[in-house]
Amino acid sequence: MPIETVAYTLLGLLVGSFLNVCIYRIPLGKSIVFPGSACPDCGRPVRPWDNIPVLSYLLLRGKCRACRRPISPRYPAVELLAALAFFVSIRTWGLSSPTLVNSLFLAAVIVLVFTDYDHRILPNKITIPGTIAGIVLSPWQDPAFYQDNVSMAAASLFGNAAPAALPWVGSVLGAAIGGGLLYAVGFAYEKLRRRQGLGMGDVKMMALVGAFLGWPLALLTIFAGSLLGTLVGIFLILFRKSNLQTKLAFGVFLGVASALAAFRGLDFLVWYLGTPR
Ligand SMILES: [Zn+2]
Repeated sequence: MPIETVAYTLLGLLVGSFLNVCIYRIPLGKSIVFPGSACPDCGRPVRPWDNIPVLSYLLLRGKCRACRRPISPRYPAVELLAALAFFVSIRTWGLSSPTLVNSLFLAAVIVLVFTDYDHRILPNKITIPGTIAGIVLSPWQDPAFYQDNVSMAAASLFGNAAPAALPWVGSVLGAAIGGGLLYAVGFAYEKLRRRQGLGMGDVKMMALVGAFLGWPLALLTIFAGSLLGTLVGIFLILFRKSNLQTKLAFGVFLGVASALAAFRGLDFLVWYLGTPR
């Protein structure tokens, strides 16, 4: 395996360690910078050499050094998940700017999936700066994400500046259409069923997905996320796991679907629509 792939995957582990801090602290309204990590049980600070991703968990056999109470396996799991996201990104886009942009996107999605699972919260602190970052960074994203007919037509309104304007147009369109469609679905559901089905957090999460992936992959994310949620919902009803069902919020499925869309979505659309890119 190329050395840069190994190094980038290890960087993903470190980022995953930071994502654990974000997942734990952002819903509680705490600072993600200060103070350093502490054991949630005894409150004693975690020493730097006990804070090495995955390795420390294994060396400590999953227990706090001070109070010996178990550390949740969720911490190394999130670190490994972030490492996997970084690994697949560099394998997909190589040493290039889309690798960095999509790693940032997937890091934000990991935080959203776990805060939604834990608290049913999709924090504004992630979705709003994330959407802005998706738009600002769009010239460094995979250009194929924004090369659809609608984006090109909209970009041509800027005259011969169309090729340069395309990522910005595609990204803003993606945020508007991704968030807008989910808002419309939630609005219709509320009118029909007279109860709230989707929160504004889901809408803002889809604006973020659309900003990073463009509108075709944002729509694919909504369809795939809904399908996944329905299938898992049926499965949980059949096997009477209703305690899990209450935890599996829509943002969890949107997050999984958006990761699949980022890596395989364009190939899927080309295959499904039968048209070359
Ligand atoms: Zn402890």
